[in-house]
Amino acid sequence: MFLPERLPFGSKTQVVEGIDEQPGRDGRLLGHFPYAEAVVDQLVPVEAGIELHRDAAISLDAMRRAAAADGVDLRLLSGYRSQELQKSIFFDVKSERNQTAAERAKVSAPPGYSEHSTGYAVDLGDGADPATNLSASFEQTDAFSWLQDHAASYHFTLSFPAVNSQGVSYEPWHWRFEGSADALRRFEPARRLANGG
Ligand SMILES: [Zn+2]
Repeated sequence: MFLPERLPFGSKTQVVEGIDEQPGRDGRLLGHFPYAEAVVDQLVPVEAGIELHRDAAISLDAMRRAAAADGVDLRLLSGYRSQELQKSIFFDVKSERNQTAAERAKVSAPPGYSEHSTGYAVDLGDGADPATNLSASFEQTDAFSWLQDHAASYHFTLSFPAVNSQGVSYEPWHWRFEGSADALRRFEPARRLANGG
């Protein structure tokens, strides 16, 4: 039996065509929570080809200015992704790498289950060290240590730390915005799981 009150706000449990595994009772599929897509008129362009929810964009802008003042060049690598885009990211790479859905889900969310769909999640890089983009070695950059010290002040939190209850691979570059009632509500189940229930 499903416990719908534990699902992220606005989302629904969904079976994904092409994945044999079924969502669990908390709605998660292969570790990932389901997320409803952002409403298009809440998205704003931040850089060429990258959009974010307006609230996350405002806070990210303030955070990047503060980082720049400290000599850190925070780069936005990825933001909002439609479920369609997530679908190709999940399945195209899966077949390219000949991975099972479970293997693929360690490093990428299935469509309908990505924090990026909400418009609140960002992948960040260090402009001084682009070779570390989207790599675990990002944790050795000045940008990452700056984020560890300051991101919480801008309501950004690391979604997938080295050890995480969702069983997703360590993603030091992936942060989610929790600085509004709506964002908080959406990520509440993920936060609750991370805090041990
Ligand atoms: Zn990400």
